[in-house]
Amino acid sequence: MASEFDLIARYFTRPARTAALGVGDDAALLRPTPGMELAISADMLVSGQHFFPDDDPEKLGHKALAVNLSDLAAMAALPRWVLLSLALPTADEAWLAGFSRGFLSLAEAFGVELVGGDTTRGPLNISVTILGEVEVGRALRRDAAQVGDDIWVSGELGGAALGLQHLLGQTRLSGPAAAACLSRLHEPIPRVALGRELLGLAHAAIDISDGLLADLGHILEHSQIGARIDLAAVPTAPDLQQLPNLIGACALAGGDDYELCFSAPANHRNRILAAADAVSTRVTRIGVMVPDRGLKVLDEQGNSLALPLTGYDHFGISQPAMGW
Ligand code: ADP
Ligand code: MG
Repeated sequence: MASEFDLIARYFTRPARTAALGVGDDAALLRPTPGMELAISADMLVSGQHFFPDDDPEKLGHKALAVNLSDLAAMAALPRWVLLSLALPTADEAWLAGFSRGFLSLAEAFGVELVGGDTTRGPLNISVTILGEVEVGRALRRDAAQVGDDIWVSGELGGAALGLQHLLGQTRLSGPAAAACLSRLHEPIPRVALGRELLGLAHAAIDISDGLLADLGHILEHSQIGARIDLAAVPTAPDLQQLPNLIGACALAGGDDYELCFSAPANHRNRILAAADAVSTRVTRIGVMVPDRGLKVLDEQGNSLALPLTGYDHFGISQPAMGW
């Protein structure tokens, strides 16, 4: 039976690349780049709450890191180092091999180094802490949106939530549609390169983990302003386009897409389009920041929609599966 130390050595120890000291000692030693400040974020994935216990461990490894990379993307920070704390019910080596493959290959792809963590027995729980760097004073914060800013989103929304509906048996998707949506749900691609491009162009940003309405709502609350968005402008996942009654639940209130929502002055439109193009990422202008508090979603006739939909809130009512 492998000990905790064997498991760490086998699955989570790689030679240090940029860390002065990586996995293996009481603490890692890191040397931040002069002129940069640290951006640090933690996210926990709990079995039964954020994933199903029998989910593919490789995809889980990917997602556990991806959601943390996404938080740094939303700050325009460059991810550098990561810590991984695992509670495992058993030392299941097949699970650990898959999980570490998913986690470490994404880490490699984004140039992030696993420098430490903790491994303990307990109900399956994955806790990741990520450290990145951003030019001092330049991070994209939730409290910096301004009246008159354009509101943008990256990519397409609703695919992940539609995949979840399919998994839960609430919607039946065709084979290819299910594959596309489940890939959005299980293997999100964090928008790190776009985040870096937005430094100096955007005022505020957030990653869409709980749904556009909820996450844009956080920017509005922190910036103490309001917003108007045009429903028809919201870019939706291709498989959602044949399901108009699910657009509200999936693209506006559905979480897990890990796209960026950001606000930027109108005179940066062309530079933003060019910057997004440079990193091969679609960005779409969906609305504008206004002085009156609150969030209005307008239909094609310019009528304000009633918004019974909120995003996911772990301690509130859960995501209603309703549409218009
Ligand atoms: P300590 O008892 O000093 O806390 P641990 O036995 O918990 O040390 O961990 C030994 C080393 O392995 C430490 O450097 C720790 O950061 C690292 N480590 C433990 N678990 C993980 C993990 N899941 N991924 C990466 N590093 C880990
Ligand atoms: Mg420890």
